[in-house]
Parts: sequence; structure tokens; C-alpha cells
Amino acid sequence: MNPNWINRPPVPTEFAGLRLIRVGTAKHFEAIITSDHMIGCLTHFYKRRTIPCTAPDCQADCDGVPARWHGYLSVLCTRTRTHYVLELTALAAVPVAEFDDAKGSLRGAMLDATRLGNKPNGPVSCVISPSSADLRTLPRAVHLERFLATIWHLNPAREDVGPNPPPGPNIRNSLLADPPTSSTEPLRFPLHPLLAETRKGNGQLPNAPYVGPPQFDPDAP
Ligand SMILES: [Zn+2]
Repeated sequence: MNPNWINRPPVPTEFAGLRLIRVGTAKHFEAIITSDHMIGCLTHFYKRRTIPCTAPDCQADCDGVPARWHGYLSVLCTRTRTHYVLELTALAAVPVAEFDDAKGSLRGAMLDATRLGNKPNGPVSCVISPSSADLRTLPRAVHLERFLATIWHLNPAREDVGPNPPPGPNIRNSLLADPPTSSTEPLRFPLHPLLAETRKGNGQLPNAPYVGPPQFDPDAP
């Protein structure tokens, strides 16, 4: 019998090494949020593990196990520089949601979480504040739905999880290289008339004044 030689190390799976964490007992956790937005769902602690509530077709509901909401974010721990997915209780997630609603995005914000008291299920206090993190060098956000589907052993064919998109460009590289939609993919929005002319012709802009993007009008309703 011969081994099946594979002469290069296997390509790591998408979420290799990425861990789902909660704020530890009587611990202080500081991190930069890398997700644009928090996602959340009802979960059960069922058969010694956390699973999402899949009501109306949910075995844990049938067995009378209570459901609790949890929120999820990807974060970069400032102390260890490690990327994690952080699970938050509903109470701890309130300031996160408020910050997102006020600012439109969480990415780059500082999260400062502390579990109060000495019990593993004690309440977690969260403070979210703006930071000076460089969004270009911050790791890409984790695709939270796909990550959770993986650790929850959900069928990846489920519609709400979505198909695996091709790997996105490294954000540093995307500043140097053409964005992926630049030439090979059809544009999904109407071309600016000047650009349409360019595509039809010899690649030169027609001799016409440049029309910039719409200007913000403070008097508009
Ligand atoms: Zn359920």
C-alpha cells in the first residue's frame, strides 16, 4: 500500500483557528470590532451545546428548552492581536446596537467588555467608543453567518447562509490592484454617460466637461 502523496500542506479551511468566545469571568476584554454590523438570533443550550432556534421546526422548543437571544461580532483583541468571534448576551449587546444605529457601522470601534461579579453567567457590561484604528490594516470582517453555520453544523445549502463567495481581496492589496469589479464582471448599475461613451469608443474620454458626483444640498428636504 502506498501513501497518497500530497506534496504541499493543505490549504487551511476558511475559519481555521478562529474561535467563538464569550467574555470570561471577572475579566476585562478590549478589542477593535472588525464587523460592520452585529448579527443575532435566538439560541438554546441544548444537549450541552449552544444551537440556534430553528422555530417553528425546533426540537429544543418541543422539549421545552428556553431560548435566549445572542449577538455575534468579529473582533480583534487589542492585547493578543488575535481575531475572534465574540458572543454577547442581549444586555451586553444593547450598547453595540445603539452605536451601530447612531454611526451606521461598528467596524473600527473599540469594544470594552467586563463580566461583573465572579459567576460565569454574571452580566457583561459593554462600552463601545470610536477609535483611531486604521480601517485599511484591520483584518477583514468574519462572514458571521457562515462561521456560525459551520460551528453549529448547519447545512451550508440553507438559503439564509448563502453560497460561498470567492475569497475577497486582501484589503491592503485592494488599494493597489484593480477592484474585482473593474473589468471582468458586468456592471450592475447604469454607466455614467461619459463612461458609456468610453466603453463604446477607443477608451478615451470624449471631449466633454467632467460631471462630478451629486453634491450634497443642505436645503434639500
Ligand atoms: Zn427553538
